[in-house]
Amino acid sequence: MIDLRSDTVTLPTPAMREAIARAELGDDVYGEDPTVNRLQEMAAKITGKQAALMVASGTMANLIALMVHCPRGRKAIVGSKAHTFIYEAGGGSALGGIVMVPVANLETGALDLAALEHELATPPDAHFAQPALVALENTHNNCGGVAVPASHLADAATLARRHRVAVHLDGARIFNAAIALETDVAALCSYADSVSFCLSKGLACPVGSLLCGSRDFIAQAHRVRKLLGGGMRQAGIIAAAGVVALETMVERLAEDHLNARALAEGLGLVAGINVQAVSRRTNMVFFEVDGDQRTAEKFQAALKERDILIGRRGPNSFRAVTHYGIDRAAIDRAVCAAAEAAGEAFAG
Ligand SMILES: *Cc1c(COP(=O)(O)O)cnc(C)c1O
Repeated sequence: MIDLRSDTVTLPTPAMREAIARAELGDDVYGEDPTVNRLQEMAAKITGKQAALMVASGTMANLIALMVHCPRGRKAIVGSKAHTFIYEAGGGSALGGIVMVPVANLETGALDLAALEHELATPPDAHFAQPALVALENTHNNCGGVAVPASHLADAATLARRHRVAVHLDGARIFNAAIALETDVAALCSYADSVSFCLSKGLACPVGSLLCGSRDFIAQAHRVRKLLGGGMRQAGIIAAAGVVALETMVERLAEDHLNARALAEGLGLVAGINVQAVSRRTNMVFFEVDGDQRTAEKFQAALKERDILIGRRGPNSFRAVTHYGIDRAAIDRAVCAAAEAAGEAFAG
């Protein structure tokens, strides 16, 4: 199977399995798991923050950040296509009592700055929920996996600061962003008060995310993690793979970007397939097939018959994601299979 549905399907490397088996462990709710502590120190250093907290998932990391920055009844301003807004089960509202306010995401993954400014300028009147947080996302999943340039993060953060509102960065794939933008992770994180990133995507860990910020923020995050049932005990089992990921799996993400570009170029040559252009592509390719939903279903089924899996995004739109486990030969096979599948689907 060539599974291009997501980079979350990645399996741990042999070095990770080895590290998991040998991990030194303790009770992390007491802060006594040496492997978790080591991973958290590494994460804080890489993101340029004072401290970090390992949590179960990116969703939990973002929810904790929302709940720490944003008291009940206050507004969190998020992108209209943001993962926090669309794909996290409404946790901010359901569990945090937060008013989630979407501001338009442009195709570049940027927030519409005029709309952001309008939301931030909510009058200090008893009628209105008051803003407490702006959440950004990089890379921007729903905008084609695009890497959002530092200049936009800076612009959004400047507006937020002017209104004394905190900034959280959903950096689930921040390492992809840094590689695509040829900058370092800490530079991208410098505009945000807190940042989350995932170990379990392109970095190939089985589970885990990190939330990073000031020491005071992380102390509060520790409490909210417990509140959400996310206090884990000998969590060094998870952290051990994360240490290996940060040491050995970051630079190879560039390979995924090259493979995604090859996939985009290959699919772009297939009649009836329209690849979404992206200003700074990372490891994702979004595309549509001509015709209606039935044609799209036939296309996807014909690909599956050829052992290629892709993700469905809309009636006739799809997403393919490259990752550890997908090499150039797999890309070439996928493009050939897509040409055949398109031929079958359009033949009626
Ligand atoms: C995957 C993802 C998350 C959530 O991570 P989970 O570990 O799946 O909960 C958050 N934000 C973005 C942009 C993501 O792609």
